[in-house]
Amino acid sequence: MNSLKIKKDIIKYAKLFNTTNLSPLRSGNISVRYKNGFFITPTGKKYHQLKSGDIVFVTLKGSHKKEHLPSSEWRFHRDIYKEKKDSGSIVHCHSHNALILSCLRKKIPPFHYMVAVAGGEDIKCAKYQTFGTSKLSKNIIKSLKDRKACLIENHGQVAFDINLSTAFELAQEVEYLARQYIDCLRVGKPKLLSYNFMKKVLKKVKNYKKGDA
Ligand SMILES: [Zn+2]
Repeated sequence: MNSLKIKKDIIKYAKLFNTTNLSPLRSGNISVRYKNGFFITPTGKKYHQLKSGDIVFVTLKGSHKKEHLPSSEWRFHRDIYKEKKDSGSIVHCHSHNALILSCLRKKIPPFHYMVAVAGGEDIKCAKYQTFGTSKLSKNIIKSLKDRKACLIENHGQVAFDINLSTAFELAQEVEYLARQYIDCLRVGKPKLLSYNFMKKVLKKVKNYKKGDA
């Protein structure tokens, strides 16, 4: 895919932040891997004002052109791309329900088998650190072990996948799961699925992705 198409795609999905269940106004950010780095939404611009010239290229070493400032949270995008070979795109957002759970410092446990879409038997919640710091980045990488999404304490959520549309879909799925889990907690204590049951689901999810379901 050429760089202009990637920038346009990033803008298209950044605008969807406002009209889906994901992130209001200018919170959150989106990136797509490209050559020796990635394109990412800029700092402090409202999504509906974005133009392709605003999307910033950052190398895996963390450098970018001086006149363009990437999102202040570019560091954990960079570290996910370095750490996860299968990451082609990253969606980070402050979606309402994921954010509420993150403020309660709760992970999403296996209350429903769909939790497996993030790659593990639960969706972890990364320990709090100030946004944009390498300490936060480290905590996120830790919570993404064997997983493609996690919550971030007192902050929100992050999801990655092979491309932008599937990463965006995963972030939406995490938000739905967070909402469903919160609703379960409103009426009682949900019965959790056992690790063995979740292992079976995880196996099916993997086969399904290979077109073998
Ligand atoms: Zn954020």
